Amino acid sequence: MAEKTERKKASRHSLAHSSQKALPLLKLIHASRNISRADLARRSGLSAGSVTAMVQNLIQTGLVVENGRAASHRGRKPISLGVRNDTAYVVGVDLGSFFLRVVITDLNGNVRHSLQIETCLTEGRERVVHRMIEAMRKAIVESEVARTAIRGVGVGHSGVIDSEKGLVLSFPRPGQMTEWKNVPLRRIIEKEFDVPCQIEDSVRAIASAEKIFGLGKDLTDFIYIDVGMGIGAGIFLDGKLYRGPGGSAGEFGHVTVDEKGPLCCCGNTGCLETLASCAAIIQAVRTAIERGVDSRVTDLALGDLNRISIEAIVQAAIENDGLAFRVLHEAAFHIAVALADVVNLLNPPALLFGGALFRAAQNLLLDPMNRTIRQRALEKSANEVKLLVSKLGSDAGAIGAARLMSERVLETVFEAK
Ligand SMILES: [Zn+2]
Repeated sequence: MAEKTERKKASRHSLAHSSQKALPLLKLIHASRNISRADLARRSGLSAGSVTAMVQNLIQTGLVVENGRAASHRGRKPISLGVRNDTAYVVGVDLGSFFLRVVITDLNGNVRHSLQIETCLTEGRERVVHRMIEAMRKAIVESEVARTAIRGVGVGHSGVIDSEKGLVLSFPRPGQMTEWKNVPLRRIIEKEFDVPCQIEDSVRAIASAEKIFGLGKDLTDFIYIDVGMGIGAGIFLDGKLYRGPGGSAGEFGHVTVDEKGPLCCCGNTGCLETLASCAAIIQAVRTAIERGVDSRVTDLALGDLNRISIEAIVQAAIENDGLAFRVLHEAAFHIAVALADVVNLLNPPALLFGGALFRAAQNLLLDPMNRTIRQRALEKSANEVKLLVSKLGSDAGAIGAARLMSERVLETVFEAK
């Protein structure tokens, strides 16, 4: 027993001693998920001997495990390292315009439990926040993860966010601008759950999930574009999520594409969001049908124009419905016109698309968008960019928010060892 305590003391001493280098190494293991000691040495610039000693310490303190043999092109496959799954758990939340999704994940992003409820924005902010907290409590209980093992909460919100201050500054959705003005959501959640919370823009949370678990895994630079009820983007440059010094980068939905276009909830006119979001697409189809245009969408919505969904419009377009086809292609055209500017500005190697529109339409709109980008952007950058549709599901925002929080939780756990 005494020997064990001594050993623990020695390991703690040496870990603290080398912690300045061990923490970045631990973060590298977390970010890479499965990485060999040799790759760690190469990527950290540390000697093989230092890496071996530090990894040994991290294994002894229970933060890192050997996960079998990593993929290798030749010879004997090296042992891969990962953060221990049961190190700690995190709650991830995605508060969208229609659905509120909650996941309980470990620090590696493995989902232990997930649930989804309707957001019901029209019931008012206080009611929505209350329902969100109830849903989080329910998810924790149903996950069977011990309450004490939950070490943080990450929340993705589709409004305009001040991540630093943990505020929802506004929610540019019809009827929500005054409801969600400077809401201290982080403070509310921290008070309820007594663990640290991080509020993030939901599209940036999805982009982070894309970087770790999705098509962005092997890309250092890409732009993720999400088209749902709103439109947003997450920009990865040099392997890092670009937030801008003020933290507001990625508000792609409020790029002007028609100076004389419709008034946007943000106060500007002709924002991309007013012409190409799912809300705008549904509204355009509904207005045309109300004016007497014959469309397959009416049948798919069972005659109830309030039930028109983006899925029904895509389905009608696939069945060669003229109205659905035209409205979808016009939206895709506006998105591509705005993206041609982005391609000129940043020369990204890949544009990844997700959100309700692309979950429904998959590759349907990629060719026309590609054509528009090629027509409008400079030839070299246009030839270099690839357009891809995300394969992550609708939980990506909650998983991404949990993942961003897990990076902070890992640091806290490390410092407490
Ligand atoms: Zn706007």
